Amino acid sequence: MTQIYDRVALIGLGLIASSMSHAIKRAGLAGEVVGYARSEATRQTARDIGLCDQIYNSAAEAVEGADLVVLCVPVGAMDSVAQDIAPYLKAGAVVSDVGSVKRAVIDAVAPHLSGNVHFVPAHPLAGTEHSGPTSGFAELFDDRWCIIVPDLCDDDAVVAKLTALWRGMGSNVDKMDADHHDLVLAVTSHTPHLIAYTMVGVADDLRRVTDSEVIKYSAAGFRDFTRIAASDPTMWRDVFLNNKEATLEVLGRFTEELFMLQRAIREGDGDHLHDYFTRTRSIRRSIIEAGQDTDAPNFGRKPAAKP
Ligand code: NAP
Repeated sequence: MTQIYDRVALIGLGLIASSMSHAIKRAGLAGEVVGYARSEATRQTARDIGLCDQIYNSAAEAVEGADLVVLCVPVGAMDSVAQDIAPYLKAGAVVSDVGSVKRAVIDAVAPHLSGNVHFVPAHPLAGTEHSGPTSGFAELFDDRWCIIVPDLCDDDAVVAKLTALWRGMGSNVDKMDADHHDLVLAVTSHTPHLIAYTMVGVADDLRRVTDSEVIKYSAAGFRDFTRIAASDPTMWRDVFLNNKEATLEVLGRFTEELFMLQRAIREGDGDHLHDYFTRTRSIRRSIIEAGQDTDAPNFGRKPAAKP
């Protein structure tokens, strides 16, 4: 693979940034990858595991001379991070981010940037429930989608370079405008997470059951909700606070459907339930045909080792 950027600066060193660092190195996509994290503890961990070529104690030093700067912090922190780095960006630099919401990030970051830098937001649709610099791995983005949002950039060469970087890290790349991105993600990611959080919360409220049976029999389906509901609380708080409109729209529709299913159960309307579940089953088939999940029974899980 050929080198695409000379110096890439990653601001925030969690799951996504550390995976980017590994994936960039795997394919030789940058001359050097440097990083900055807010806390000394994270910076020290990053140094200990040899993440990046250099870890700096300030965001200003990290972005100096970088031709690509990627903001890898929670959505709610984008504003202050952009403000911190803006005076130190080199002319012609590209600023991007990996935030799970795009309109709010554009509104938070763009006002801080001067006209001589390009801003091209992106969102890799890849993640795990783990956080921090030790959780990243080079394969995270392989065969997953990355959505690039070039709303504010009319320089095709700049967008093409960022696209090449994400392809080099293993992703498939699509382009969308920010509002469309936020609606699509409200359906495919944000609302499902909220539902998982709710289901696990309900089970926890029913303490009588949770204390024993819910954990013991979790493989019956509940376990899959718990994996999603174990996702980083700061990240997901920020997602909902910053994708309010689209999430509330999808949640409204979800609630209506839930009431319809509730009524079908109460009235014993088996045809309605059967038709509904047949439709949803075909969506699962489409996801497998699109290569976005495995067809192996139980997601290809091996039986858990005995404790
Ligand atoms: P993470 O593992 O929790 O790491 C977050 C990083 O941001 C840490 O280095 C943290 O620094 C830093 N940070 C947190 N709050 C900050 C603040 N107020 N100011 C400055 N730095 C701050 O997070 P992640 O999972 O990599 O997520 C990063 C971004 O990627 C988020 O915007 C998220 O929406 C997006 N994203 C996540 C996923 C996913 O599944 N995880 C998928 C796609 C996109 P310290 O360690 O020093 O506290």
